[in-house]
Parts: sequence; C-alpha cells; structure tokens
Amino acid sequence: MSNFWNKQIERADHLANESSGSKELLTFYAQLLRAQAEFYDSLRSSKDWLPSGDLETDVPAIRSSMTVLLQTVAQHGPPSLAEEAQTLLDAEPPVLPDKLREYWHNPSDTQFFAKALLQPYARWLNETQTTPAGRELTGGERTCPFCGGRPQLSFLQAKESTAESGNRDLLCATCLTTWEFRRVVCANCGEERPAKLGYFHSPEFDHVRIEACDSCKHYLKGIDLTRLGYAVPLVDEVYAAPLDLWAREHGYTKIELNLVGL
Ligand SMILES: [Zn+2]
Ligand SMILES: [Zn+2]
Repeated sequence: MSNFWNKQIERADHLANESSGSKELLTFYAQLLRAQAEFYDSLRSSKDWLPSGDLETDVPAIRSSMTVLLQTVAQHGPPSLAEEAQTLLDAEPPVLPDKLREYWHNPSDTQFFAKALLQPYARWLNETQTTPAGRELTGGERTCPFCGGRPQLSFLQAKESTAESGNRDLLCATCLTTWEFRRVVCANCGEERPAKLGYFHSPEFDHVRIEACDSCKHYLKGIDLTRLGYAVPLVDEVYAAPLDLWAREHGYTKIELNLVGL
C-alpha cells in the first residue's frame, strides 16, 4: 500500500483510539480510508492499464474496483450513507458512472460517494502525471493547479522559506495533492486585508485553527505542522470537528465539507 494512504490510516486509527468527541467520526473515516486505499491499490496494480485522464474512458476499467468502497460504507457507515451505498450497489449500471460524471464536471461536497471514489482516482492521475480531462481550471490560485479542485484545508510546515508562500499550502479536496498559497489570504475569495481575516483557536486542538473570512463568510481549517510535526492534515482536520461547530455557530460556511460531512 502506498505511503500516503498508510500515513492517513495510521493517524486515523491512532486518533480514534484517543478518547475524544470525534471518536465515531474517526473510526468511520479510518474504514473509509482503508477502502479508498484498496481502490487506489487496485488502480495502481492494474497491469497493462494506465488512466487516460478522461473519466468517460476510464470508468469502465475502474468500475468493478469501486464496489469495495460501497460495501464498506454499506456495512460501517452512518445509517443514511449506508442506505445510499446499498442502493448504489443494487442500482442499474449507469447510476454510479452518472454520479461520477456529474461530480467530475460540477463538483459538490455533498456528493459523498463521487468524492470518496474520485479522490483515489484523481490522486492516481496526479501520480502518473496524467492530465485530467474535462475539468474547469478557472479558479486561479485558489483552486488546485492540477485538477481544479477546491481546497479542503490549509497547513503550515517548516520548509525552505519562500517569501510569497510563507510556508502555507492548501490541500486539494479532489486529488489530495497540495499547492503553495500565500499566508494571509482568504482561500475562498482572495481577501487580503488582515482586518477581514479572523482566526479561532481552542486549547483542545493546539495545532488546528479556524481561518475565517468576514468578506465572504467562508472558512477552512489550518493545521500547523510546526506545532505538531506528526499531525496528518487530512485526518487532523476531521479530528478537530468541534471547531466546525464553532464556525457554523458564528455564521461561517466551510469552503469544502470533508468526507464525514463536516
Ligand atoms: Zn486537485
Ligand atoms: Zn473570503
């Protein structure tokens, strides 16, 4: 299994075992990550097949490998998702490909299954340097330069400092790769005035903060790896779920919901 997925799974298992309010979310997320990793491995180990980057062309080749993820959610997911997974497993062939196509051309963070299935696919495109076809890349620096996806989160890490980025990166909600981004800028609307950008932080999650914008009323979470070097941004973002409640209560909308729907 690739390092990337292993790292996410180990972190999710670890945090799920810590007593916290996010235990159920993390237990489910760990199972989901395992299913995504299995799907990813099946893509990577397909002999004589490489993705074309065009979802229409690739779906027939990857469709059967998607079943494992649907089965995992049907068995372990929260009731509403479990039911939907079973419906998809029982559905006629065009239903799932239609959902994937819809998400690919018009991504929505409430399309749970399409997002969960296309993350490993899009990441595999990135690893094989296959350009995704049919995706709009119009968002400029605030969307993923590889696939056009929106940011799931931001993170700070200690690295060779470049003045523009200030060591802040965004992580793509679709292909799970990262790109450099300026430090004091809203990742949704580009607001740069410091007075419009707010941060919320709770002692319970020392390395995670809400980064909110008062111009567009959107937010995302920032994971600070300079405070906790072994944090894994994608998983720690889920772990800090109580911060999402704070943001919602204060009238902010998340730029992109994560896979546990928060
Ligand atoms: Zn991307
Ligand atoms: Zn904004």
